[in-house]
Amino acid sequence: MDYFQYQVPRFWYRFYWAIMLAFNLLIVGFYVSTHYVPELGSYADTFALTNTALVMSGINLVYLLAIYWSVARYSLPFATLIGYLLFSAVALYGMSQTSMQSGSYLYIAVWVVAMFLNGAYGLLVLVGAAFLTMMYAALQSNFQFAELSTPSMALLAGSVVASAAAYFFWRTRYISVQDQKVTQLSGMLRSNQQQSEILIRSIADGIIVTNTEGKITLINPAAAALTEWSVEEATGLDVQLVAKLHKEDGSEIAAEENPFALVLGQEKYINQALQITGRRGKKLVISLVASPVIVPGTKAPVGAVAAIRDISEQRAAEKQRAEFISTASHEMRTPVAAIEGYLSLALSEKVSTVDNRAKGYLEKAHSSTQRLGKLFQDLLTSSKAEDGRLNNHPAVVEMGAFMQQLTDDLKFAAEKKGLFAEFIVGDGGATIDATAKDVNAQHLIKPLYYAYVDPDRMREVITNLFDNACKYTDTGKISIGLTGNTDLVQLYLRDTGAGIPTDDIPHLFQKFYRVDSSATRTIGGTGLGLFICRKIVELYRGRIWVESQIGKGSTFFINLPRLSNQRAMELQVPESARSTAAIVNPTTSTNP
Ligand code: ADP
Repeated sequence: MDYFQYQVPRFWYRFYWAIMLAFNLLIVGFYVSTHYVPELGSYADTFALTNTALVMSGINLVYLLAIYWSVARYSLPFATLIGYLLFSAVALYGMSQTSMQSGSYLYIAVWVVAMFLNGAYGLLVLVGAAFLTMMYAALQSNFQFAELSTPSMALLAGSVVASAAAYFFWRTRYISVQDQKVTQLSGMLRSNQQQSEILIRSIADGIIVTNTEGKITLINPAAAALTEWSVEEATGLDVQLVAKLHKEDGSEIAAEENPFALVLGQEKYINQALQITGRRGKKLVISLVASPVIVPGTKAPVGAVAAIRDISEQRAAEKQRAEFISTASHEMRTPVAAIEGYLSLALSEKVSTVDNRAKGYLEKAHSSTQRLGKLFQDLLTSSKAEDGRLNNHPAVVEMGAFMQQLTDDLKFAAEKKGLFAEFIVGDGGATIDATAKDVNAQHLIKPLYYAYVDPDRMREVITNLFDNACKYTDTGKISIGLTGNTDLVQLYLRDTGAGIPTDDIPHLFQKFYRVDSSATRTIGGTGLGLFICRKIVELYRGRIWVESQIGKGSTFFINLPRLSNQRAMELQVPESARSTAAIVNPTTSTNP
């Protein structure tokens, strides 16, 4: 607790203590002298050195010498305040006993000094003491101000001067405790704000903060450099004007899909690779992470914050790597195909004669070469899928007939392993035996599921999933299904195989990911198949996922946008007109 209004140094407390001690010692000393030295006897009356005065000063001395210090340990200002009250009692007593005659000057002097020192307790104490002094003087003269004695006038004048001097002295020399707290606090706030500003300025990534209207409230030099604006000019402008964004391939972003619009309008968290065009036209590939700014306690966001990183070099390096992989796999495919061909010839009984042991070795070499060929093919396809170089000629495909045909082609591979393959249309509805011959009869009961896809690419996807189902299923059946609603065509491949552990499912469609279980480890594969499937399905704005239960089997689902029959008819126009009629442009498509 602060008793003094001002933050005064210890020196003043000591000084106050010394003054009080000196005065009380003086009273006691004077009392003793006047009582034991007869020549000084008259002073006892003049200065009212009575027994009461002695007792009061004695109490004062006891307090100052013994008690003061223990109270001071708890609070120095409080100890001083008690001292002051005892001290003024002696002074007041002295003044009243000397009836404001010449002897009072001693007490008046002490009172005035005390008043000055009281200024440190603040204006209130000072005004209170001044009021008390005036009342005292007024009482002494029975409110006859014209008859005030000289000492009374001196008391009043001294008090006024002491009050004024004290007010200015303490106020100008020492900062008030309250003010100091405020300054400390604001200093702290200032330093926090400064600190965060320094930090934001020093971050190598670009940082842009906007208000709810999308106006830039803070932009750091790194973001300014990326956008080719200066910090001063960009601050206050619309963020979409400063950060001109395009999709990574350079295509336009629809207004409602702009990351800042999404963050501010729908409070979404954005993490995208995009292209940014600087004010002077410099184009960079950036990674943009943007999120709404939420102040604790409020629900609605107060703005958006975005971190921007230049990933152009990273992208260029990735492209180089992908190019190397595709060139290398392309180049290596040819000799591998040649080796495979010669090995087939060597194994052909019509062409060459080899003994049984050599035949065994050659068969092993042949199957390894086949796997190598598949690996190179997959590598090539996946690197093409990644940088959008995959051959893609979408057309209107009736998925029912397409899948039926495909199942017919694939079922032999399953049958070779003793697995049963079937094709189902509708929600577990009419099961059409894959071996059924009367395709026309099926057309009568089947709804038509049109999709706009490249049939060769879709065949690749289904074949891949079917091969996997065969590979990872020992007994049972493989069902290929087709269903859908007005907007979607859904394909699925269900097997009764080993199943996939739940932990692996989220990673399954990543490059080179293979489930590391004893059941699958022995089965050869590249881990690229499902990655390629995903890339192709995404090309047609589709989605691929899997549901699986260990020991029971897995079902791979593919959702594709469905074309209405009418739209499908419109699109099935002659080749020359097709390019303008196409509603789906796969290169600019995004995932639904
Ligand atoms: P791979 O060449 O290894 O088959 P994929 O990308 O096609 O590569 O598949 C990745 C992994 O997913 C496989 O290694 C396998 O462990 C698991 N997997 C894929 N399909 C099935 C399935 N039908 N049943 C069980 N596991 C599967």
